[in-house]
Formats: sequence, structure tokens, C-alpha cells
Amino acid sequence: MNDASCEFRNLLSFDVEEYFQVEAAAVEQARWREYASRLEPCIDAILGMLNTAHVKATFFILAWVAQRKHPMIRRLVDEGHEVASHGYSHQMLNRLDPERFRSELEDSRKILEDIAGTAVIGFRAPTFSITHRTAWALDVLAEAGYRYDSSVFPIRHDRYGVRQAPPTHHHAVAPSGRTILEIPPLTLSVGCFRLPIGGGGYLRLWPVRVVGMAISKSQKSGTPAMLYLHPWELDACQPPLPMSRLSRWRHRVNLGRTASKLEWLLARYSFGDVRSSLQPLLATTQMYLYRASAKLDASLRKR
Ligand SMILES: [Zn+2]
Repeated sequence: MNDASCEFRNLLSFDVEEYFQVEAAAVEQARWREYASRLEPCIDAILGMLNTAHVKATFFILAWVAQRKHPMIRRLVDEGHEVASHGYSHQMLNRLDPERFRSELEDSRKILEDIAGTAVIGFRAPTFSITHRTAWALDVLAEAGYRYDSSVFPIRHDRYGVRQAPPTHHHAVAPSGRTILEIPPLTLSVGCFRLPIGGGGYLRLWPVRVVGMAISKSQKSGTPAMLYLHPWELDACQPPLPMSRLSRWRHRVNLGRTASKLEWLLARYSFGDVRSSLQPLLATTQMYLYRASAKLDASLRKR
């Protein structure tokens, strides 16, 4: 293992949704039933790899999926993994308002908790869609009693991201002043650029040694690296979906290499689920005010 300098294990997470539910495909929820599920063989493969490596992970599960896959959800719990929420409709939060988000959050948590039989304490928004514009969602999450969120990508991107947000775990200060632990996905700072590294198409695109280098760098700074993957990223034979050329490339690049990259990382670095590391993560003193001015941001950091 290459992680002696970090007090935390790195964090491994999966956003559990069907391949046709991705934002870029724009398949309406009313049409999801027209598509055949391809999820279970991918979950089988992931659980096989995690069992071999003796690693537990956090699974952010779409409640729509959970309703149709009770045995799969119970298997995740039985094998010691954490069940967390990925909402219900897979809509980016800028398409919801606080009331609709609150209601979806409540419904999806009840569905997941009833099936899993465990408390759901973590959330990840579809397509990392908590930004300054949707910072009200942090208030809704804190008010609903969620202990942590992992929905802010601290990069510049055409659809999501908060470029100025800390790249390490921190207390997100919501517009009302409530706080919630925020755990961003792994990035790598090179000069004045911050590169997205830790999951999805980025992980598929970067050479795995670059991902490893970013994990090591994060560990040396005392911060666990948060990695995320989707089960459909292990399914290189999935049918094509209607998408723009750029989105199709983002969705399909190196799908055939995901499994071997994950195995490589599991063999070299120590990973775990968020729930097991929650107390040390909550001890961070770093804070960041969402929707704050640059001046306030600076005064809140490292308070
Ligand atoms: Zn998703």
C-alpha cells in the first residue's frame, strides 16, 4: 500500500444508475421503462473486485433503480457497503426548486432506507449539480439531517463545478449559515490549473498512473482522495444512445479499460466507504461559503 502518510483511507464511491439515465442522453423519465436494465452484471463485477480487495465502498443509489432492484440493494448492505442517495429523478438541481428537491430527497431516502434497512446519511446530486446557483440545496440537505454531501466538483466545466471551492473535504456553509460536510471528487493542481481526475470519464481518460499520482499527492497533504465511478462504465457493450458527438465521446471513451484501471487502483491504494471515515472527516476546520463573495471566501478558509 502506498498510503502511509494519510490518516484516512481514500474514499471509493459508485453512482448507481442505468446507462440510459445519464444527463447527456436526455431520455425522459417517462421513457426509462422502454429500456432494458443492464445494471446487475456491472454490480456483480464491481462487488467481485471489491471482495477480492477487501474494500467497502459508498453506493449513491438512484431510488428509481432501488425500487426495481431490492435484492441488489440488500446484497450491497449484506456485504458491508454504504447505501447513500443519488435522488430519484436524476434531474440536475438547477431544474428543481427547493420545495421539489426537498420532497424528492425525502421520498428517495424513505425508499432507500425501507429497502436497505439502514440509515441514509450521504447524498450526491446528479451530474455534480450543486453550484453557487443551486447552493440552496446545501440548506435543504443540512435541514433534512444529511451528514455529508459529495456534489460539488471544484473545477470549471460547461455543465457543473465551483472553480473556487476547496479541492479537499470541508464544511460547506449554505446560504442560511447551516453547514454540511462536503467531500469533492479528486482533482490535481498543476500550476494554476486544477484538473479533474477522480472519476467517470476523467478516470477513463487519464493514464491510471496519473490517477495514482493524484491520489498519492492528496494523501501526502493529509486528505483522502474521493473516487467515483458508475456501474455502466464497466459495460463496453451498452447500446448507443442519442447524444451529441462530444457527449458520446465523453460517455464512451475507454469504457473497456474501466475495470482494469479500478483493479490497478484497488491493488495499490487503501479505500473505504464514507460512513466509516465520517468522524475524522467531520473534524476538518476548513470552511467555504457557497454564494459568497471572493473576499468572504478568503476569510472563511482555514478559519
Ligand atoms: Zn448520476
